[in-house]
Amino acid sequence: MIGRITPEFKNQLLDRTDLVELVGTRVSLRKAGQLYKACCPFHGEKTPSFFVTPARQTYHCFGCGAHGNAIDFLIELDRLSFPEAVEELAQRAGMPLPEDDVTSRGPDPRPLYDLLAQAAEHYQRALREHPEREAAVAYLKRRGLSGAIVKRYALGLAPSGWSFLLQELGRTAEQREGLLAAGLISERDGRRYDRFRGRIMFPIRDRRGRVVGFGGRVLDDGEPKYLNSPETPVFVKGRELYGLYESQQALRQPPRLLLVEGYMDVIALAQFGIDYAVAALGTAATPEQIRRLLRGAPELVFCFDGDDAGRKAAWKALKTALPLASGQQPMRFLFLPEGEDPDTLVRREGKDAFEARLAQAKLLSDFLFEHAEARHDSTTPEGRAGLADEVQGLLGTMPAGSYREQLTAVLNRRVGRPAAPGRVAPRPRAQPRSTTLTPLRRAVALLLDAPERAALVAEQPADWRELNRPGIRLLAQMVDIASAYPGITAGALTERWRGTEDESAVRKLADARLIELIPEDGRAPELLGIVARLNQDAAAERRAADIDRRWRARDGDSDTTG
Ligand SMILES: [Zn+2]
Repeated sequence: MIGRITPEFKNQLLDRTDLVELVGTRVSLRKAGQLYKACCPFHGEKTPSFFVTPARQTYHCFGCGAHGNAIDFLIELDRLSFPEAVEELAQRAGMPLPEDDVTSRGPDPRPLYDLLAQAAEHYQRALREHPEREAAVAYLKRRGLSGAIVKRYALGLAPSGWSFLLQELGRTAEQREGLLAAGLISERDGRRYDRFRGRIMFPIRDRRGRVVGFGGRVLDDGEPKYLNSPETPVFVKGRELYGLYESQQALRQPPRLLLVEGYMDVIALAQFGIDYAVAALGTAATPEQIRRLLRGAPELVFCFDGDDAGRKAAWKALKTALPLASGQQPMRFLFLPEGEDPDTLVRREGKDAFEARLAQAKLLSDFLFEHAEARHDSTTPEGRAGLADEVQGLLGTMPAGSYREQLTAVLNRRVGRPAAPGRVAPRPRAQPRSTTLTPLRRAVALLLDAPERAALVAEQPADWRELNRPGIRLLAQMVDIASAYPGITAGALTERWRGTEDESAVRKLADARLIELIPEDGRAPELLGIVARLNQDAAAERRAADIDRRWRARDGDSDTTG
């Protein structure tokens, strides 16, 4: 959990982020004068109409109207939530996130992290020293795992018996409460005992490398074969991905990420040099997990068994993935031969053959149509209608854009429907005109164009602040913020209004086209002219109010005397 993100933090974050560099990691930018241009990542196009302005730290697409700062870029492109986008940028910039306000969000989670880290150490030590280690070591050897891999994944051993961890870490009542909260011990009929017994232990680490939970695999024929930590304040299953941290440590730029089913698959693949496999934790992948995977590599491959159950699970994953499928990053589905899992397959075939399978895995679009068509007889009108309805419904969950349009076109061909005209190009938004802006809005737009102009306004008389007009408050806030932070970019300035009632107004006014008709060297004079007129208006209003007050005072006098 991250704490409250203050305006100052956002300022610093945007200050340390270079939008050109960030955008450049996703699309290929070319310099064009003082700007950079590219084909827009938000809509399909062949000639670039997407521009990044380094001085403003904003981007703008003249085709689809997309615009914003670095945070918006990640929110839009990666479908991140605002806190996720901030977290992502902070990680890139090497800035520690504001600590969660522990008093407002329940107990401090830090002791839990400590305890989990200590438990992991005890399990690891048991694998090296405990009398029961032989069986565990023999098992790992049978699976062909080297000491180096065992160490990299910090595998351990939970000895059999009921109180290994209790004895090591549960000496005081307070410690035992901690173990319970961390999901390391269980309680039944008032008796407490180790949750994990007689198992190989797989620590699950979060994106910062902290142990947040464990998976355990039995050493004998006991049930269940795999046991996970329960959810705790620091372990949310739908959020974490087993092996992602280790993969990111091993590879700075993985060619892809491969989502497999189990811990052992992840580790066996790593043993064979495939360092980019991760596993969801005993559940189907959640949107949050898929989002994280898409952020981590240019391509995502889902791996499933080739049987019916595997296809069903794959279909479920596809449905979860569609709302995140923008076509920027290929998503593929690998179906394993009957009776194989990634572990056995890579062992039998080796790395190269396995990677060749990944490279040829089914594209999401192929799997989508193949699976849907298998259920509808497309030789009959009824079947085609059923197919059209089902696929149309699924495509409706996708983000708008050229990928969805392409798949719609494929669907239309398959069901023999004429292509809908005009669907391919996005409708350009109406060109905003500066003439439609009130002077107040024009002033705000001129400030957003170059926030340093606020200093000029601040030097002028401030009578205009007294005016009772819509927009005055916004202009005043903007002048104050921009003059308090010299050097603030337009991108960072607009950020101040995220989540406020003025957000959409500010966004609209940040559109560079609004003032493009005003020549560059005329913009500061234009702004000062507006402020001067506002000051005149304020003076006139004050005079009128004075007269009004005097008249009313006289009326009041006559009332009391009359
Ligand atoms: Zn666009």
